[in-house]
Amino acid sequence: MTDTQVGIVGAGPAGLLLGHLLARLGIDSVVLEARSREYVEQRVRAGVLEQGTVDVLTETGVADRLQREGMVHHGIELRFGGAGHRVPLSDLAAGRAITVYGQQEVVKDLIAARLDAGLPLEFEAGATEVDAEVGIVRHEGGELRCEVIAGCDGFHGVSRAAVPAQVFERVYPFAWLGILAHAAPSSEELIYTHHERGFALHSMRSPSVTRNYLQVPPDEDIEDWPDERIWAELQTRMALADGSFSLNEGEIFEKGIAPMRSFVAEPMRHGRLFLAGDAAHIVPATGAKGLNLAVADVRVLARGLGAYFDHGDERGLDGYSERCLRRVWRVQHFSWWMTQMLHRLTGDPFEAKLQRSQLEYVVRSEAAARTLAENYVGLELEDA
Ligand SMILES: Cc1cc2nc3c(=O)[nH]c(=O)nc-3n(C[C@H](O)[C@H](O)[C@H](O)COP(=O)(O)OP(=O)(O)OC[C@H]3O[C@@H](n4cnc5c(N)ncnc54)[C@H](O)[C@@H]3O)c2cc1C
Repeated sequence: MTDTQVGIVGAGPAGLLLGHLLARLGIDSVVLEARSREYVEQRVRAGVLEQGTVDVLTETGVADRLQREGMVHHGIELRFGGAGHRVPLSDLAAGRAITVYGQQEVVKDLIAARLDAGLPLEFEAGATEVDAEVGIVRHEGGELRCEVIAGCDGFHGVSRAAVPAQVFERVYPFAWLGILAHAAPSSEELIYTHHERGFALHSMRSPSVTRNYLQVPPDEDIEDWPDERIWAELQTRMALADGSFSLNEGEIFEKGIAPMRSFVAEPMRHGRLFLAGDAAHIVPATGAKGLNLAVADVRVLARGLGAYFDHGDERGLDGYSERCLRRVWRVQHFSWWMTQMLHRLTGDPFEAKLQRSQLEYVVRSEAAARTLAENYVGLELEDA
């Protein structure tokens, strides 16, 4: 006897979207989340959605607000040596685009859809242990017996410990200081800046909210960064040589420092347990891929579970880990490549010359720019 077909641990983008896709296939699930609804809805993280992520949310009916409020971008700017260079993503990647829409907005939309449909989603019910052989999730309120468990509990969750996995990891010698500010975006598109003082990124969340990032040392204390220092450093790194650019400033209402890490646990399955999203892998944020990779995992998992529960076909589930890891490693490479091209690394002048050469090649060669574009907008699920 089981309580549900699929027990989903974690109500981040991976767990919530999986629950949504399964409901559409007539598969029942229970989502257990450690935190409160308010907490997960307010947690500020990613904001760049790949074309494939937007498509799946749209096709499955949870994108009304995304379609109204999301900001579609057809290019990005690479800025270095005091000059800006536009990479026309959509021209280079068969018309595909990215959409700027906060991760917490995706989470809000998926929670609302699940609760409106009367489907089980328990907050403040953190899992304490997952039994991958028997299919039991022990949690703060008791235990849940499941045919299949989806470990969608992020990097610090408990699910990964139940998979005897090999870990591949790289920790970068820098972090990102990120801010949200009440200021109109200073550019229509994202600006990725390579500067001798370090990387900077200008992004946005809405026509009146700016999201900016600065490369900082990994052990930096946020208390050492009063607002004036943040704005001054952003202005310095993002300045154009002809003086024609000035970043709009405004009240900073959110700031934090996030480490930069690459991490993969292989395989992503053990027994009845399937890991998805950050529970299995982390990418440095330079490629804007973490959320999108989580979405890609659960699309593959939902398909496999659909065939399994419909007619007992286990091939999709058996191939899940290998299928996902192919994309994970493509995305790991892209995120690493963007990271090492754009950040100040060790300060070695030879390294800096190589970076500059790489950047110039990307903006001069259509082939190189296309490589960036098709990875940035996201490869089709079938292609990666
Ligand atoms: C500070 C920060 C900033 C980021 N910024 C960016 C960015 O700018 N761009 C980008 O592309 N990506 C960014 N990312 C990465 C991106 O947000 C993640 O890749 C994405 O959230 C992955 O979704 P997920 O559902 O797999 O995991 P998560 O979003 O981490 O969701 C996991 C959920 O599981 C819950 N949980 C944890 N433990 C348990 C438990 N024991 N029982 C039950 N529930 C549990 C958590 O509370 C959480 O709700 C950032 C990540 C962090 C941490």
